[in-house]
Amino acid sequence: MSDLIIRGLHKAFGGHAVLRGVDLTVKNGSLVALLGPSGSGKSTLLRTVCGFERASAGTIEIGGRTVESDESHVPAQARRIGYVSQEGALFPHLSVAQNIVFGLPRHERRARYRVDEWLELVGLPLSCADRPPHELSGGQQQRVALARALAPSPSLVMLDEPFSSLDASLRAETRHGVVQALARAGATAVLVTHDQSEALSMGQEVAVLWDGRLIQVAAPDVLYRRPVSREVASFVGEAL
Ligand code: ADP
Ligand code: MG
Repeated sequence: MSDLIIRGLHKAFGGHAVLRGVDLTVKNGSLVALLGPSGSGKSTLLRTVCGFERASAGTIEIGGRTVESDESHVPAQARRIGYVSQEGALFPHLSVAQNIVFGLPRHERRARYRVDEWLELVGLPLSCADRPPHELSGGQQQRVALARALAPSPSLVMLDEPFSSLDASLRAETRHGVVQALARAGATAVLVTHDQSEALSMGQEVAVLWDGRLIQVAAPDVLYRRPVSREVASFVGEAL
């Protein structure tokens, strides 16, 4: 019961319209890749779903509950969404293990519940557990951020370019680990990327955002064979 339903979503900063009427349904347990060029509004869309930004208009529903509308704004922490920001910022004063268990209930935090399992899943050596984040590379920190977002088993997960700081070989491996973790948790997920091949290979559906509007939402093979416009064709074509 964690369908995400976005209707007529608008977001402007000052007079600058960034989201201009976004409608999107992400079915329970599915992964939608949100693909679009830099500046198209991908991060703003995720941040609004998470509750970090207030919508200018429109509604957002999670598992049948309205979290955003003209009348209501459920605070971010009450939405229980696993979120990895583009920067993947970790808590600098906590160890890697403490970062990973941060969102868990206190007794599980104390017991460092499943830390080894998470490290393995995101492809990090178990020896990382007690180190401070700053001793890890950017790519390793990004993977700790992923583990931290997934560890509380949220039913809805928003990932903003989580693989951007990984090199190509790690990227493939980490993608696989993340898809596995999401499937195991039965989570509903939106994965933001500007990488066409990543979107086509990971998303059950791909939503193409262009200048604040979704210009096509379709299964990868449909997007590839029947792009609705020249923009989609040229953008998706770059993956081939
Ligand atoms: P993307 O993630 O697709 O690259 P963003 O959502 O980050 O796009 O940004 C889309 C547009 O919104 C950009 O023009 C950006 O400058 C603007 N924007 C994003 N956040 C803010 C903000 N907090 N204040 C003002 N403008 C913003
Ligand atoms: Mg962004």
